[in-house]
Amino acid sequence: MKMRANVFKGPDKIGLEDRPVPKAGPGEAVVKITLTTICGTDVHIMRGEYPVRKGQIIGHEPIGLIYELGEGVTGYKKGERVAINAITPCGQCEYCLSANWAQCGGFLGGWKMGNTIDGCQADYVKIPNAMANLTKIPDELSDEDVLFTTDIFSTGLSGAESAHIQVGDIVAVFGQGPIGLSAAAGAKLKGAALIITVDSVPSRIKMSQKMGADVVLNFKKVDPVKEIMKITNGRGVDVAIEAIGLQESFENCVKCTRVGGTISSLGVYPAHLGNIGVPLQDFGFGIADKKIVSTLCPGGKERMRRLISLVKNERVNLRQLITHRFSLDEIQEAYRIFSNQLDGVVKVAITP
Ligand SMILES: [Zn+2]
Ligand SMILES: [Zn+2]
Repeated sequence: MKMRANVFKGPDKIGLEDRPVPKAGPGEAVVKITLTTICGTDVHIMRGEYPVRKGQIIGHEPIGLIYELGEGVTGYKKGERVAINAITPCGQCEYCLSANWAQCGGFLGGWKMGNTIDGCQADYVKIPNAMANLTKIPDELSDEDVLFTTDIFSTGLSGAESAHIQVGDIVAVFGQGPIGLSAAAGAKLKGAALIITVDSVPSRIKMSQKMGADVVLNFKKVDPVKEIMKITNGRGVDVAIEAIGLQESFENCVKCTRVGGTISSLGVYPAHLGNIGVPLQDFGFGIADKKIVSTLCPGGKERMRRLISLVKNERVNLRQLITHRFSLDEIQEAYRIFSNQLDGVVKVAITP
C-alpha cells in the first residue's frame, strides 16, 4: 500500500513522493496521521542547514490513529487516537532513566522522527518504542487542541521549568516565535508575577499578550535591556529565557538577569558561530551566582500526559497559535508561508 510523504531531496528541495506504508516491527506502532505541523527545525532541514539524509521523510509532530501495533506492544488498541512527542525516548537507557529523554542514547538521540528515521509529514508514520511514546487523547479534546504538545509547548515550558521559576518571579523571554510564546505560557504556569517578552513582529507581539506576556518590548523601538532594568528598578529579572539562538539575545539575557538569577537557554545556536561569549562584567566575573541552563524538548508519554492534562483543564490554550491550515497536498505552500513568515503566520496545521 502506498502513501504520500514529504521528502527532503537536497537543500531547498522538498516535496511529496509516494512511499510504501511502513510496517510495525516488534515494539513499534504505525499511526495514521490526522494532523501535523511544520517546525522551525523543519525549515532548517529544508534549507540544508541541519543535516538529514536525502530521501528522508521529514516532520516530527504527529497526531493520529493507531493503525498497526507491532509484536509485544500491549495497553493500546487499533483505532485509538494518540499524540506522540517529537522526542521518542527508548525509556530504558541511562539517559532516559535519568530523565534526559531528549538525549536518549547520547547527544540529541531522543529526536528520531524526521531526523534519523522517517518522519510524520505523511499519511502514516512508524513510532519506535511505542509503549513509551503513544499518549491517548481524551475524547473531549480535538486534534488541534493538543497539536503543539508534540514539540513547541513541551520545549517552551521546559525553559521555564529548567530555570526553576518561583512564584512571584519576574521573567523575561527573548524571542516570541512559537517556542518563545510557549515559554511565556510556561512562565505563567510556573507562577511568574510579571512576564516581559521581546520581539518586533506585529503578529507575534499580539499573540504574546494572549499567551501570558504582561509587557511586550519591541526591540526595534526600544533597547530591551535598558527597558527591563527600568521596569525592575535596576535589579534585573529573576529568570531570562533565550528563545532565538543568537549571541546578542544570549548576551542580553545575561545582562538583564539579577545577581543570583538564571539564564535559561532554549535557542539553537548556529554552528558557524563557533562559540557563544559571556559578557564578563554582566556575569559578575563568574562570582555573581548567575546560573546558565539549557534544555531540549522533554518527550515520552508521561510528559505528554501532563501537557495534555494542562490543555484539558484549560490551563493553557495552544490552539490559538494555529493561524493557517493546509492539506498535505499543499505542504509546499505551507512551507513557503511559514518559512518566510508571510501573512502574519504563527503556526500552521497540516491535514493529510
Ligand atoms: Zn520541532
Ligand atoms: Zn533512552
